[in-house]
Amino acid sequence: MADIFEKTSMRDMLCGSVDETLVGTSVTVCGWVARRREHGEHLAFVDLRDRSGVVQVVVDGSVDVRSEYVIKVTGTVTARPEGTVNAALPTGKVEITNCTVEILNAAEAPPFQLDDRNDIDEQVRLKYRYLDLRRSQMQNNLRLRAKVLRAVRAAMDRQGFCEIETPLLWAPTPEGAREFVVPSRLHPGDFYVLPQSPQIAKQLTMVGGFDRYYQVARCLRDEDLRADRQFEFTQLDIEASFVTQDDVMRFISEAVLDAAEAATGERPSTIESMTWTDAQDRYGVDKPDLRFGMTLQNVSAAFAGTDVKAFSAPCVKAIRVRGGADFTRSRLDALTEQAKGLGAKGLAWFRVTTDGLDSPLERFLSDAEKLAIRAVDGAEIGDLILMVADDFATASKVLGQIRLAIGAPPVSQGPHRYVWVTEFPMFEGLDEDGNPMAAHHPFTMPHPDDFDLMETDPLKVRSQAYDLVLNGWELGSGSVRIHRSDIQARVFRSLGISDEEAENRFGFLLGAFRYGAPPHAGFAFGVDRLVAIFAGEENIREVIAFPKTQSGSDLMTGAPKQITERQIRDLRIKIQPKA
Ligand code: ASP
Repeated sequence: MADIFEKTSMRDMLCGSVDETLVGTSVTVCGWVARRREHGEHLAFVDLRDRSGVVQVVVDGSVDVRSEYVIKVTGTVTARPEGTVNAALPTGKVEITNCTVEILNAAEAPPFQLDDRNDIDEQVRLKYRYLDLRRSQMQNNLRLRAKVLRAVRAAMDRQGFCEIETPLLWAPTPEGAREFVVPSRLHPGDFYVLPQSPQIAKQLTMVGGFDRYYQVARCLRDEDLRADRQFEFTQLDIEASFVTQDDVMRFISEAVLDAAEAATGERPSTIESMTWTDAQDRYGVDKPDLRFGMTLQNVSAAFAGTDVKAFSAPCVKAIRVRGGADFTRSRLDALTEQAKGLGAKGLAWFRVTTDGLDSPLERFLSDAEKLAIRAVDGAEIGDLILMVADDFATASKVLGQIRLAIGAPPVSQGPHRYVWVTEFPMFEGLDEDGNPMAAHHPFTMPHPDDFDLMETDPLKVRSQAYDLVLNGWELGSGSVRIHRSDIQARVFRSLGISDEEAENRFGFLLGAFRYGAPPHAGFAFGVDRLVAIFAGEENIREVIAFPKTQSGSDLMTGAPKQITERQIRDLRIKIQPKA
């Protein structure tokens, strides 16, 4: 039965609400002509579509309505004749007959059939996104997105967080991504920066005494696009004072689990956690996919005194591929090439057969080594053992990627396995000038036990940063923040940012820290990614109303575009000819 909110001055209800309880009554519905089928000489069946679904309307054959015409229909709800009931449709037991049809707007023939069964070229879909949005896949995805947003907002409200909007025209922040810049007309030669995240602004709301902030924030990053990345994306961004990492993880878990419940009807149990070092050790990545086993086994001890050159390395790791003994030689060769491409010297493989291990390396192994390989992860006959020997980082990384290549299901495939990864390193590698690079961002508090390593051995410093991972996708990251200007200055220094430069770029933040900044911590997770997984989509474009293509274009508006001479003059900028 129709909801009272469906009724407007133009219609009584939505198409999808017309059901058998209404037989005999007169109704008015509005929508788009999804399909027209002639029925004999004098009648036509029209499937009338609106956001709720379709209803069958029987019109006079002389009524000139075609695909995507917008019409208003008044008629009588009638039970469909025996044998014509469509059990697959909620409105399938009825049709609307004796109709008066008013054409509200005619439509040109659409450039593609708005039918979910058609595999439509994405370029065409994006060019005519307003038509594409009429398809039930997009209707469902965007409504699911709204549901998820509603759930996360409610979870944050319930936990005492205050929604605060932060500026889009902002100053640069050092979070690692290339930023979009906006020229200032009133200050020629100066630029605003579109925020890659509200990081500094939200920290300042903590100094401002808000205690718990959240925002469904749009973030902009001028980076190469991929299936899970757009120039602009939406994240649930939070920050809280007088909290530890565990509190933040609890707040976010609540929001994510509520969102999962709203989206799927089932609330996952609590989210497990593991340290970054464990994730490296067992999965070889910092975003472990827990939906399948094949975990990395460290067999270094068994090869400590090996005579086999391929295995004489500080770290020897192995994975067991269940039933993998039937991998063809060419598949094994391809995996070996992949391993080499990732930096390994090779990939050793052993088929576990009734006669023992089958491998070109078998005859070089000692009995103890054979036994160790045979026992990897409880291997059984018919399995395949793959091994990499190198330093810990390389062996873990390479085997971690091989594990994913062999075993990872598509990201959106259930079950949904969430995991917190904690104790990330503070810095990852060195930049061109030999300065350590912040693994999360430079506002992250180092682990209290590792403060003294900051100047002596920065790459060993652990941070108080944590990620949330779902099915091998990084959903989001956060950290306990630095709230003291002396520690912040020290971290800037380790990153190679001089005191003068720090004062110049972030003087306002360092200043704020001198006026009673409370200890605080926060997090942000990507709404697009979460919704995509709930919707069973591999690509976040499917859950964004107006996304850009992989090359950053908006095929509908044509953006990015040239601006007028007048605008260029006003902004006092000069366009260089294309290189
Ligand atoms: N600003 C971080 C990001 O966008 C999240 C955070 O640390 O709260 O990834």
